[in-house]
Amino acid sequence: MHAVNRSPEVIILGSGPAGVAAACAAADNGANVTLVEASPFPGGELVSGLPVDGCLNARGEWLVGGPAHALFEGCKRRGGYIGPLFDWRLNWGVCIDPVAMRRAIVEELARRRVRLMLSSILHDTAVRDGRITTVDLTQRQGRAQLAADVFVDASGDGALAMLAGAEYEQPEASALQPVSLTFRVGNVDMPTLMKFIRDYPEEFMLAESPVIDKSPAECARALYDAGLPFVPLSAKGRVLGKAIASGAVAPCTAVFMWPTSLTRREVGLNMTRLAGIDGTDNAAWSATLPELVRQVEKGAAFLKASVPGFADAVLADAAYSVGVRETRRIRGETVLNDATVREALRHADGIARGTHHIDIHGAGTAQTRIPVRGGGSYDIPFGCLIPCGLRNLLVAGRCLSSTRAANGSCRVMGTCLATGQAAGTAAAMLVGEGFSDPRQLDVSVLRARLTAQGAVLDGVA
Ligand SMILES: Cc1cc2nc3c(=O)[nH]c(=O)nc-3n(C[C@H](O)[C@H](O)[C@H](O)COP(=O)(O)OP(=O)(O)OC[C@H]3O[C@@H](n4cnc5c(N)ncnc54)[C@H](O)[C@@H]3O)c2cc1C
Repeated sequence: MHAVNRSPEVIILGSGPAGVAAACAAADNGANVTLVEASPFPGGELVSGLPVDGCLNARGEWLVGGPAHALFEGCKRRGGYIGPLFDWRLNWGVCIDPVAMRRAIVEELARRRVRLMLSSILHDTAVRDGRITTVDLTQRQGRAQLAADVFVDASGDGALAMLAGAEYEQPEASALQPVSLTFRVGNVDMPTLMKFIRDYPEEFMLAESPVIDKSPAECARALYDAGLPFVPLSAKGRVLGKAIASGAVAPCTAVFMWPTSLTRREVGLNMTRLAGIDGTDNAAWSATLPELVRQVEKGAAFLKASVPGFADAVLADAAYSVGVRETRRIRGETVLNDATVREALRHADGIARGTHHIDIHGAGTAQTRIPVRGGGSYDIPFGCLIPCGLRNLLVAGRCLSSTRAANGSCRVMGTCLATGQAAGTAAAMLVGEGFSDPRQLDVSVLRARLTAQGAVLDGVA
């Protein structure tokens, strides 16, 4: 099954959850794959320490498999898999140790002989008759040009599709979701923190899910029984509210916290933000780093001083990069729409399932959260991966074709892993069957292939 390295048949741009899953799936289906990544290490946001949301619906049923499963197994073998935890709000997150995930990703790519092109930034592309012929990269030694039969844009920003002339939408900078620098602290006294959660449920966001029939106090008790802190400390609570009012902490909706390592007694934290930044504007994005580092240090000091369990905590690490939640959405043959997400709709050409609530962070303490009906999931049609006007390109992950609200759901990493698997499988099928356009693929055959390789397309809510 695994291909030898000839000149690449499939080039995948971006090695976040969508790109890694696409590369694994394309290789599993016989393609010779090159994975191009701007950073010196693969993983994108999958190695920044975040919990992988969107893998299970609010009822606790798994919705992703295939490469996602192999990566989680790799974390498990390295003692870095905590597994799915419910936040008793509306969300299951698969909690992993990013240090283990980094190695698991490298192992899975190497096992499949995916050729890595690291520290390689796409800056141009050539298109003839609607087909991308080459991509131009800036690399350590200078410039390089690569050709392939099929391309997958998993860059988050839709960088390749944009350069190839695809239509896209991107809100004005002032309307975009804020950028954030997440971080991790170790040496947390988990039992003391869990007692605080149990005894002060009003300090936390709890019981938001439509499928939860418990009070916040009962949810806090269930979290305590589970023994691990996957829960947001709310800005509406006294502890965080007071810190924001005094300026000790920058305004945020909540301190989102989740476990990242049991041996290091470590939790991940998402509590920094800067709004009004266009993440595709390099100068504006780079300039956020000093302020976000200040927010990280203030945040860590606040936790130490004011939140039970953090008194002896030590700042362990920050994410590898300032995280960008929202940029371009490429216009595809089908647009994933609000109704599909909100109403948990099925589509005959569904190639992945999404489940995360519509989750749109705003400036300061603002955040929109709209659940998927019944805590279930929805289908993402294959057409959302096919940019209009281009013939040998698929998009996957955050930049796929979607309305702004729908993107607020499908952007989470579990769903990106699933759309990546679909795009990589489709790319390999195109190469294998000698087709020149994904529109020629029989979607029922693609769906059957995906299901046979672990994707969950049917049989769950
Ligand atoms: C602060 C923050 C908190 C979040 N919290 C969560 C959470 O708790 N759980 C969750 O599941 N999701 C969360 N998300 C959302 C999620 O992390 C992203 O939407 C998701 O990672 C997108 O996956 P992707 O594969 O499309 O892109 P990414 O993970 O962004 O990966 C894209 C890759 O493409 C590379 N790339 C981009 N442009 C180029 C180029 N021109 N040339 C070469 N390479 C390029 C990048 O370097 C990157 O490695 C969060 C996001 C942010 C920013």
